[in-house]
Amino acid sequence: MNLLPDQIRVLERGWLSSNNVVFHEGTEATLVDSGYLTHAEQTLALVERALEGRRLARLVNTHSHSDHIGGNASVRRAHGCRISVPEGMAPAVRDWDEDALLLTSAYQRAEPFEFDATIAPGDELEMGGIAWQALHVPGHDMHALAYYAPAERILISGDALWRDGFGVMFAELHGDSSGLPAQRRTLELLRELDVCTVIPGHGAPFADFTAAVERAFQRLAAFEQSPERMAKSAMKALFTFTLLEKRRMPRVDIDDYFTQVAIFRDVSQRFFGKEPAAVAALVIGELLKAGVLAEQDGDIVARGS
Ligand SMILES: [Zn+2]
Repeated sequence: MNLLPDQIRVLERGWLSSNNVVFHEGTEATLVDSGYLTHAEQTLALVERALEGRRLARLVNTHSHSDHIGGNASVRRAHGCRISVPEGMAPAVRDWDEDALLLTSAYQRAEPFEFDATIAPGDELEMGGIAWQALHVPGHDMHALAYYAPAERILISGDALWRDGFGVMFAELHGDSSGLPAQRRTLELLRELDVCTVIPGHGAPFADFTAAVERAFQRLAAFEQSPERMAKSAMKALFTFTLLEKRRMPRVDIDDYFTQVAIFRDVSQRFFGKEPAAVAALVIGELLKAGVLAEQDGDIVARGS
């Protein structure tokens, strides 16, 4: 089934790197999001192939997380393209504020980059000869934008909506209770759109938009009822991300990791009222049981990509 017009190429990645979307525009092209830093070489190779000889003129981001901006500097070096970022994330990038970019608290990495333009909620932009509206979709990231093409009924949702859920509620994890209400308003906004195909930040493009929005509302309601459930789900996602980057970690080091890395330590105390080691045991136990992680020779390893 061909869900998308021919000039849009979705490079489906995994969880460490976000998807990349390449738009053919005559002899030029636009790229949305650039993956994680340690995948930058792979991103360059995939984008090069998807360009099919075109010149990459522009890179556009959905939001500021490391798995979406980690390849920005490499892509710009390789192609000399312009970079446009959501207006809300511009100060953090300009000052390379590793706290605001959530790099410090989660021990994640990205390479500083320069940008040429910002995109504000309500702005219109053309990508692949299609008119897109920038929609403010706070929640997972309070400055995130989605891009919506009303005529083609396509939504580039970033991490505000996936086929099954949405990205981690970082604001809430950091003690800011405006995250869940923002995500609710975002889902209410998205629900009103006429969408035939969603290009999410992670996972394959999908067609069943209404069902996905419904699942997201259910997940949100569960999180609203139980902040602890939200926090546990987030810890699982964040630790899996960590292992995708590191590939493996000795099991004996995990207690220290949860104690040293701010987001694990703080969430353990804020949401569980427990020592980080106790939360680590809970989180790792569930991830092993679910088969997301495995234990090999005393190491915990990730099974995804
Ligand atoms: Zn994200």
